[in-house]
Amino acid sequence: MEQLNFDTVILGGGPAGLASAIYAGRGAVSTAIVDLNMLGGQPSNYLELENYPGFSLVGGYDLMEKFEEHADKFGVQKYPMQEIQKIDLKSKTIVTNEYEFKAKTIIIATGAQPMKLGVPGEKEFVGRGVSYCAVCDGAFYRNKVVAVVGGGNSAVEEAMYLTKFADKVYVIHRRNELRADKIVQERAFKNQKIEFIWDSVVKEVKGDNLVNTAVLENVKTKEISNLPVNGVFPYIGITPNVEQFSGQLEQDASGFIITDETMETSVEGVFAVGDVRKTPLRQVITAASDGAIGAVYAVKYIETHKEVAV
Ligand code: NAP
Repeated sequence: MEQLNFDTVILGGGPAGLASAIYAGRGAVSTAIVDLNMLGGQPSNYLELENYPGFSLVGGYDLMEKFEEHADKFGVQKYPMQEIQKIDLKSKTIVTNEYEFKAKTIIIATGAQPMKLGVPGEKEFVGRGVSYCAVCDGAFYRNKVVAVVGGGNSAVEEAMYLTKFADKVYVIHRRNELRADKIVQERAFKNQKIEFIWDSVVKEVKGDNLVNTAVLENVKTKEISNLPVNGVFPYIGITPNVEQFSGQLEQDASGFIITDETMETSVEGVFAVGDVRKTPLRQVITAASDGAIGAVYAVKYIETHKEVAV
C-alpha cells in the first residue's frame, strides 16, 4: 500500500473541508483532501441556495464546484472515492482502500447524514418510495402523492420543492408547531399543495413493490390511520459521520465532535469543522467559516510543532 505524507489531511470534501483546503493550501502547508465520494458534500445535492452571501441564488452543485476550483488553485491534492478503513487520530494515520496517509494535523470535515425513522418498511423501501433526497428523487413523483416527515427547515423546504412535481405533499410532524424558520413556514402555509398532519408520527411504511401507505399514529389520541402515499421523505434531522473514529475524541451525546473556538478537538493537532462538529448552526456559510478557522489553526499548529515528524 502506498504511503503518503502531508502536513494536513482533511477528511471530507464538503464546504467545510474545501474551505479548510483553501486556507491550508494558501497557508503553504502540504494538504490532502480525502472523500468517500466525489468532492462537494451535501450541498452538491441542493437545487438552490439563497442564503450564501454574495449569491442571492446559486445552484448547490455550482457553488461547490467553485469551492473545489478555488482549492485547486492552491495546489491541494485531491483523493476522492476513498473508503476509510482505519484512523488513529493520536498518531495521525489514516488508512483507506488505496493509501496510508500520515499527517502532522488532521481536519475532520466528514459532515452528517440524515437520521432514519427506524420504523418497519423504511429500510426495505429505500429507492422504492423511501428517499432522503428530494432533489435527487423528486422528479419520480410527478403527479403523485408524497409525505415528508419532520418540522424543521429541511422538511418544510423539501416539501415545497416536492410540490413542483407531486400533486399533493403531506408534512407529517410530531408536534402542532413547526421548528422551521418563520419565513420558511409562511411560504409553506401559502402553498396549496401542502397539507400538514400535526401531532403525528410514522409507525410503518407499507407497499407492494413500491410504497403505497404510511401508517400514522396520532401521538395525542393514539389513533392509527393509513395514509395512501407513493413516497415517504424523512427529514428528521442529522447524525454525524464519525463511525471510524468515534470514541477517540470528545463528543456530545449525539456523537457530534466537541471543539474549542479554534476548532481543535480533545486530541492535539486534530481539528473538526462543519456539520460534524457540535455547533448551533449548520449552513454552508458556517461550514466554510469553521473550515477557515480550523485550517488557520492547523497551520499554526504545524509551525509551532516543527518536531512533529511524518
Ligand atoms: P432539525 O432542525 O433538527 O429538525 C428536525 C425535525 O424533525 C424537527 O421538527 C423534529 O421535531 C423532527 N423529528 C426529530 N426526530 C423525529 C422522529 N424520530 N420522528 C419524527 N419527527 C422527528 O433538522 P433539519 O430540518 O434537518 O435541519 C438541520 C439543520 O440544518 C438545522 O440547523 C436547520 O436550521 C439547518 N437547515 C437550514 C436551512 C436554511 O436555513 N435554509 C435549510 C435546511 C436545514 P421537533 O421539532 O418536535 O423536535
